[in-house]
Amino acid sequence: MLEKMDKKFDPEEVIEEFEMLTKDAERVQRETLQKILEENGRTEYLQKWGLNGRTDPGSFKACIPLVTHKDLEPYILRIVAGDASPILTGKRITSISLSSGTSQGKPKFVPFNDELVDSTMQIYKTSFAFRNREFPIANGKALQFIYSSKQFKTEGGLEARTATTNVYCSSQFKNTMKAMQTPCCSPDEVIFGPDFQQSLYCHLLSGLIYWDEIHVVSSTFAHSIVYAFRTFEQVWEELCSDIRGGVLTSRITAPSIRTAMSKLLKPNPELADTIYKKCSRLSNWYGLIPELFPNAKYIYGIMTGTMEPYLKKLRHYSGELPLLSSDYGSSEGWIGANVNPKLPPELATYAVLPNIGYFEFIPLRDNVEAQKHDEPVGLTEVKVGEEYEIIVTNFAGLYRYRLGDVVKVTGFHNSTPELKFVCRSNLLLTINIDKNTEKDLQLAVEVAAKLLAEEKLEVVDFTSHVDLSTDPGHYVIFWEVSGDAGEELLEECCNCLDRSFVDAGYVSSRKVKAIGALELRVVRRGTFQKILVHYVGMGAAVSQFKTPRCVGLNNSSVLQILCSNVVRSYFSTAFC
Ligand code: AMP
Repeated sequence: MLEKMDKKFDPEEVIEEFEMLTKDAERVQRETLQKILEENGRTEYLQKWGLNGRTDPGSFKACIPLVTHKDLEPYILRIVAGDASPILTGKRITSISLSSGTSQGKPKFVPFNDELVDSTMQIYKTSFAFRNREFPIANGKALQFIYSSKQFKTEGGLEARTATTNVYCSSQFKNTMKAMQTPCCSPDEVIFGPDFQQSLYCHLLSGLIYWDEIHVVSSTFAHSIVYAFRTFEQVWEELCSDIRGGVLTSRITAPSIRTAMSKLLKPNPELADTIYKKCSRLSNWYGLIPELFPNAKYIYGIMTGTMEPYLKKLRHYSGELPLLSSDYGSSEGWIGANVNPKLPPELATYAVLPNIGYFEFIPLRDNVEAQKHDEPVGLTEVKVGEEYEIIVTNFAGLYRYRLGDVVKVTGFHNSTPELKFVCRSNLLLTINIDKNTEKDLQLAVEVAAKLLAEEKLEVVDFTSHVDLSTDPGHYVIFWEVSGDAGEELLEECCNCLDRSFVDAGYVSSRKVKAIGALELRVVRRGTFQKILVHYVGMGAAVSQFKTPRCVGLNNSSVLQILCSNVVRSYFSTAFC
C-alpha cells in the first residue's frame, strides 16, 4: 500500500481512471457490490438475513433491510468489546471511528478499516486532479487547520478516534499530501497536540514562518478556518512577538509542541515587522488571508450544508482568493468528489465515485418526511432535479445504511450523478403540523442577519430549540452577535425570523396560535466557543466539528451552556 502511494501520482491518469469508472457507473456499482458481498458473505450479519452467498443487487435488496445506526449498534458494540468473530466484516475490524455526533449530542461508533483510507485517498486525488487543472499549484505547503481528536483503546483493545484522526494517522495521508505538493506546514506534534487551542496557535505560527510557501489554506470543514482567523484577530501581536524574538509564548505548555515548534522558530524581526504593518493596515481584517500569504492560490474545505453560514466571514478574510469546496463524505465513508472546482461553494456538487461503495437513493418527492417508504433506486437511476435520502453499503461492514443526509441530483458526470448536499434528513423544528429542516432555519437566519449587516454586525453562530415548556410551544433561536445591537434592531430581527419560516404548517399554526411567538435569545460572545470546547472534551475533533443547529432536551449540557449565557431575549410580534 505504501509503495503504491510513495511515487508521485499523475493527475491526468487519475482523471482518466475517474472518467473510465464513471462512464460505466452501473457496471462498476454491480462489481463493487459483488466484491463487498464476496469479502463479507460469511459474516454473521449477512448470513442472518439469508443472503446465502448471492452477490447480485436484486437478492441483496430483497434480503437485507434498510437500517440506521441504532439497528447496527448492538453488532458494533460487540466488535468494540473485542469480539473477533466475523460479525459485520470478514476481515477483523481493528479501529473504530467516532462520528462528530453533534446532531445527536453524543459520538457514534463506526467501524473503520484500510479500505476506507484507500477510498479517502482516491477522493482526495480525484478532486485534486480536477482542481489542479483550474488552479495549478506546485512545490508549496498547505496551512491546514487540522487537529486529531482524543484517542483511546476500547475495552476490546480497538483504537477509537475520529475518522479524520484515523486518516491523519495513516502513512497514506502524508504521502498523498506530499504527492499533491502541499504537505502540511505544521509539524505532526501540532496536529496531534493534546490541546487544540495550543495547536491552533502553532498552526498559525507555522503558517507565518513559511508565509511565502503557503499555496493553500484549508481545513476539513470551513468552520475551522473561520475559527482560526477569528483567533488570529486576538493573538496576532503575540504571534509577531514570538517571531521577533524567536521564543515561543509561554501559553504553549505542551512539551511535544514546544520542542517541535522551537525547531522552526528563529528570531526574525523583519518578518515580525512586515506582519505587524500588514495587520495594522487592514480595514476590519478584510483580505487578511492573501495579505499574510500572498502566494496562496485558494481556500479549501467543506463549505456546503451546515458550513454555508460561515461563507460570508470566510469571503471577508479571503478577499479575492477563490473559495473551493472540498468533497462529500462522512465517518461512515466517502461519497463524492468535487470535480467542478470553479463553481462557487453555494453551487458546489459532488460526483459519486462508483467503486468506493454501493449507493442507493430513497426518493423524497414532496418534502423530507413524505415518501420515505418509496423503494430506493440505484445510483444510475436517480433523476435530475429530484431529492433523495442516501443509503450506503461499504467495505467496512455497513449494509444498506441510512446516512441521514438529503441530496439533490443536479446532473450527471458521464453516468454517475452529481449531488448537491441539501440537509440532514431529520426535521429540526416541529411542534404542530410545522416542518422545518436545518436548511429552513439557515435561510431564516440568513434573511434576518441582513438587518444586522446594515449596522455592520454579523451573526457569529446560531442554533435553535423547541420550547414545549410554554403552552403553546414555540421556537427559540439562539444568536451570538459580533457586537452591540440596539433593542429595536433585535426586535426587528426577531420578527423577521418568525416571518421567514415560510413552511405552510408553521405559518398557519402561528396564525391560529397553535405555536407561540418565536423567541430570539442573544447569547454572550464566546458562547459557541464554549460549545465547541464542550464537544472536544467529549472526544470530538475540532476538524469535524459542526455546530448543532437544534439542541433538544436530551442534549442538556449544551442547552445549559446556551441558557446560562443568554443576555437578552425577545418575543416576536409578527403574528399579533
Ligand atoms: P461526521 O459525523 O463528522 O462523519 O460528518 C458527516 C456528515 O457531515 C455528513 O453525513 C454530512 O451531513 C456532513 N457533510 C460531510 N461532507 C459534506 C459536504 N461536502 N457538504 C455538506 N455536508 C457534508
